[in-house]
Amino acid sequence: MRIVLTLFLIHGLLFGALRHFGIYEMEGKEQGNKLLVIGGIHGDEPGGYFAPALVVQHYTIKKGSLLVVPNLNFDSIVHNRRGIYGDMNRKFDHVDQTDPDYELVTHIKSLITDPSVDFIINLHDGRGFYRTTWESAIFNPRAWGQAYIIDQKTIDDAKFGNLDEITALMANKLNQSELAENHHQFDVKNTYTKDKDEQMRMSLTYFAITHLKPALAIETSKNITELDTKVLYQLLSMEALLNHMGIEFERNFELTRETVNHLLAQYGTLAINNKFELSLNDLRPALHFVPMRKTGNVFEFSHPLGTTIDRGSYHQIMIGNIPVARLYPQHFSLTCKATAATIERDGNQERVSFGQTVRVNKTFKVLADKDFRVNLIGFVTKERDSQDGITVQKSDFISRFSTDQSETSFRAEFYDNGDFCGTITVVFEGP
Ligand SMILES: [Zn+2]
Repeated sequence: MRIVLTLFLIHGLLFGALRHFGIYEMEGKEQGNKLLVIGGIHGDEPGGYFAPALVVQHYTIKKGSLLVVPNLNFDSIVHNRRGIYGDMNRKFDHVDQTDPDYELVTHIKSLITDPSVDFIINLHDGRGFYRTTWESAIFNPRAWGQAYIIDQKTIDDAKFGNLDEITALMANKLNQSELAENHHQFDVKNTYTKDKDEQMRMSLTYFAITHLKPALAIETSKNITELDTKVLYQLLSMEALLNHMGIEFERNFELTRETVNHLLAQYGTLAINNKFELSLNDLRPALHFVPMRKTGNVFEFSHPLGTTIDRGSYHQIMIGNIPVARLYPQHFSLTCKATAATIERDGNQERVSFGQTVRVNKTFKVLADKDFRVNLIGFVTKERDSQDGITVQKSDFISRFSTDQSETSFRAEFYDNGDFCGTITVVFEGP
């Protein structure tokens, strides 16, 4: 997998969105068709962005390729709102240059019209359950959920232009799989956009098909509250399309609700300024005195939906629309040039770079280095300033100073002349 662009935070744009989307190019060894997967055009539709996030993390393409944008409307995702700058899916016929979404819409349009792209899917969670006849306020022809949305039956002269047949195949396949509830069945909804739907003429999929690019929307239902179920249906739908397009793939998990649920809870890691690494699983809800700059900090997440919100006194860590933890900073200039230290773990000496995590069975020691002041957070010594040269084990630490809720992970911080140089995260795996 190659990450083409991860400019998560763009500063200095007067009108622009704060966060740009990520683009993940996943190419098979064998050439073939290319599918563009777009998630998160609406920030309050998590099925539509957690599904492509799992694709990026857990799928490998063998033949053909995928281009995945899991978080198109990233600013709205972190605020769990449809569109904080207005509905992005109504900006594809025209978007003003002063619109905060201008850059994003213009950029995604260039991917949609790229000659290498053969098909586009736009992932949503929609209201209710789509039915061809009126059954109730939730099950009816005006609902959007559990449907494949097409703007017209076919696109003439386009490879994969038979949208009606392709979506019928997808619905048939999905409905044969094990549904969590029988009423979760999928159907095809044709909006006949050109003649009947003025609103949809401003949408992403209509922009695509008017540029002769086959496109459809996959809508799971907002009325399904379990995220794993929605993500499961999104992935089953995408896989049916991949099979139809001859794009061959592998995934490193079994596609069931249980495994999807497990994978959704994996938040990965966060590296702060390349000097301090945190595991985001089992993290305490608040960490204090986290060394960082006052402005211009670089937060690198392993998860495609990871970002931070600057709340003034703290940085809120987000995975998609899920608040994970708060980081309360202690400010340093970060001009220290040192990048590593020598440690001893379980009796073995080694050189470890700052920003790394080391796993220890029983004992840990920082070897004397006159340049540093070493601070083992949660380990108290009265007699000396620097805590190098002292063999410590888990029971030597005050447990509430751990970074994790299981109380196994502690910070060894290194300072030089009052400036912060870096942290080695120590995880005690033994008793
Ligand atoms: Zn939507």
